[in-house]
This record gives sequence, C-alpha cells and structure tokens, in this order.
Amino acid sequence: MKARLETRLEIDLNALKHNFEVIQNQLKPQTKIMGVVKAFAYGSDSVVISKTLQDFGVSYLAVAYIEEGVRLRKANISCPILIFYPQLEEISELIQFNLTPSVYSFHFLKSLHQFLKFKNIKNFPIHLKINTGMNRLGFDKNQFDEVKTCLSDRHTLKLTGIFSHLVASGMPEEKDFTWQQIQDFKTAVKTFETYAHQDLLTHLCNSSGILNYAEAEMDMVRAGIALYGYGNHPKEHKMLQPVSSLKTPIAQLRWIQKGESVGYDRKYIAPEKRHIATLPLGYADGISRLYGNGNAVVKIHEKLAPIVGNVCMDTMMVDVTNMSCREGDEVLIFGKNHSAIDFDFKHLSIPYELITRVSQRVSRVVIPLNK
Ligand SMILES: *Cc1c(COP(=O)(O)O)cnc(C)c1O
Repeated sequence: MKARLETRLEIDLNALKHNFEVIQNQLKPQTKIMGVVKAFAYGSDSVVISKTLQDFGVSYLAVAYIEEGVRLRKANISCPILIFYPQLEEISELIQFNLTPSVYSFHFLKSLHQFLKFKNIKNFPIHLKINTGMNRLGFDKNQFDEVKTCLSDRHTLKLTGIFSHLVASGMPEEKDFTWQQIQDFKTAVKTFETYAHQDLLTHLCNSSGILNYAEAEMDMVRAGIALYGYGNHPKEHKMLQPVSSLKTPIAQLRWIQKGESVGYDRKYIAPEKRHIATLPLGYADGISRLYGNGNAVVKIHEKLAPIVGNVCMDTMMVDVTNMSCREGDEVLIFGKNHSAIDFDFKHLSIPYELITRVSQRVSRVVIPLNK
C-alpha cells in the first residue's frame, strides 16, 4: 500500500543532532552513549535514526525485541545492538544476527544456554539485567549467588555488561528512591565484577537520569526520549527539540449554525455559528479518541485550534472560527513549535505514548542534516 502523501511525519535529523549534542554535553567525554531506537525509534524511523546515530558515534543501539534488531542488521547497521526484552522463540535470530541479549531471568538464561550448547557456541556476550526497584524484569539481590553459579556452570555465556533501570529519574520528589537504586546498582556491579574478574560495561541512566543524575553516569547511558526531543519534566524539554512533526492539510471547511452537531454521536453541538475544518487523520493514525471533545489543540498558521467532537478512525474535526484558513492549508498536529505536550495540554498522556503511536500508514519524510 502506498502511504498517503499529505499526512506525513517529518523527521528532522538536525533536531536529532541538536539533542544528541545536548546529551553529549551533559556527560564526561569518556562516557559511552547507547541510542535507544525501539518501537521504530520512538515512532519515527528506526533505520534512518540508527544510521544517523551510528554516524554521530554512539557505542551501542538498543531495541526492545529481537525482530527490531534483525531489521537494523538487515539495513547494514553494524554497531552493537542490545535487546532489552528478548523472547525465547527468536533466540536463533539473536545469534544469527549477532545481537546482545539482556538476560533478565533464570528461564531465559537457561534456555539461551541450551541453545548455544546445541550450536556449540562459547562465550556469547550478554548483559545482565538487575532489578533495583522497577519490579518489571531483572534479577533481585537475593538471586545474585544463584546467577553466579548458573554462569560459572555455563561457558556458553560471557558476561560483558550489567545494567538496571531507574524508575523515577524525572521526578525530583523521588530523589531518595533514585539514590537507593543507584547505590543498589553499584553494589550489584561490584558483586559481578568481582565474580567475573574483569570490568563490565555498566549502564543505568535513561534520558532523565542523564539530565538529573550525573553521579549515575557509569560507563554508558541509554538515551531514548531525549534524543527525540522530550523529557519527563518541563525543565528537561526546554533544551531539546522535537524530531518528529506530524502534519496534515485541511481536507474540508464548513460553517455550521447554532445547534448543529459535529461527528459521531453528536458530541459537539455548536453554541453559535462555527467554522469547522476536517483533517484527514484519526485514531487509526495514532491520535487517540481521548483527544476528542476539546482535549487537544492543533496549530494552524500559528494559532491553536481545538479538536471538536469525537476523533474518527481516519478523520477528525477542529474549530477554526476566528482564524483565516483555506482547504489545503497545513496543520501541525504536534512537533517542532507545537510539541506533543502543547498538543496534549491536559496531560492525558505522555510524549512517549503520543510520538510512538503515529501509525505506520502515515508516510515518513526525512529532513536531512544541513551541510
Ligand atoms: C526505553 C528504555 C530506555 C530509554 O528510556 P528514555 O526514558 O526514553 O530515555 C532505557 N532503558 C531501558 C531498559 C528502556 O526500556
């Protein structure tokens, strides 16, 4: 299927460069950067972003699932790739495409070992995932001895890295909790470095960690949302630029009279004569129905227009009374100069969700780096 040309997601590599440099400037010169490109590089284009980040000099890339890593390898990306959530059924691709797994459970560890043994492979590099409070994936402190025993018995695996994940690095009010996580991670590092008789590649910080906890830098940081122009706190967004801009043209304009309604279920009733613009994108393109009925604003000629009525599958309507616009005029849903947070001004969600939801039927248009 050919994607529609009008509704498009512009991916500005100059903004990516700006954000990368902001991150770099936060770090010691020797600290490595892992570019997190999971979920189509946060809804943009994982191959384009990965190639660009590789050129910028990232040490690692990371994705959630093996299939996402395979896609990058097939696009000739040679940089080491960490898989955060490898699934058992794709272990053969993990090995075939030289991807590095996060090992987070005994079940996964033992299955990976069995597979490598069967293939007669030794010293396959892994990163160990430590649970320091997220309670999602990873080994707990009381499992460390058993992990060491497991690894010692299995020369198929070579421990090369160790990491954990901060729960609330963007929340100043959770500073104490974050500090405890940092301390617990450092203890885990000591335990496993002593066990391995060597330094491991250590990493703990996500974007907000990079921006707020210099003490937790370790050997490498995992930059995700900040690369794409957002943070978890207004102070963080300020210095970054949104990479993705979702744009669409006005499909149709019409005046409606007092008492007339707009859209399914008549959720909007005009209190007086109103000018309504129909936009050719809807919830199937990634704009949740949550944003209907005045819960979000788009930008047209530097003015804000609220969504009226329910968001439809392929279309939505906005109120453009008091602005001069014509059919075909460009509408900025969110992006540069009207961020996902400006769009979602009631904070019904977070930028992560908004930007990763832009569906694959929206064409991607890349704005190349300025020479
Ligand atoms: C997604 C993810 C990141 C990136 O987090 P941001 O907040 O987007 O920087 C880092 N580490 C892990 C384990 C992740 O799953």
